[in-house]
Amino acid sequence: MALTERLKETTQVGYWTGEIPLEYIYTYGRAGEAYFRNIMNKGSFLGARCQKCEITYVPPRTYCEKCFDRLEDSYVNVGTSGTVYTYTILYKNLDGSHKKEPVIMAMVRLDGTEGGVVHYLGQVKPEEVSIGMKVQAVLLPKKQRKGGITDIEYFKPSG
Ligand SMILES: [Zn+2]
Repeated sequence: MALTERLKETTQVGYWTGEIPLEYIYTYGRAGEAYFRNIMNKGSFLGARCQKCEITYVPPRTYCEKCFDRLEDSYVNVGTSGTVYTYTILYKNLDGSHKKEPVIMAMVRLDGTEGGVVHYLGQVKPEEVSIGMKVQAVLLPKKQRKGGITDIEYFKPSG
């Protein structure tokens, strides 16, 4: 359909094909930057603690979602240990082809926190994974970390 054509019926659908060049810069935001800097430099996860609500959010937030208190001065290290909150097993690649080996993705709730980290599980077979399994993050060696999600290699069973 040419861009100048007019629709004659209200039930018609107009569409145009083509490409729109887009440029963008993705930022983590203030809390996200602190979170990834902490992983890169200190090798542990950062949470935001609301004393009033007794909640530690991971990833950290700039404010409490329940009472709206500012939390930027309330970041705390929460370590690297947690439990599998939920998981899924991937057998196919994004293009639909079969993976050589299944990959396990999990949401890990770090100990004593709300929220969690979605990442790979490693050093475990799909039939061995269970909800509630104790796990620990395996990070890249400090010199190889770049301040992103790939600084975390995977979570491995710890219990
Ligand atoms: Zn609160």
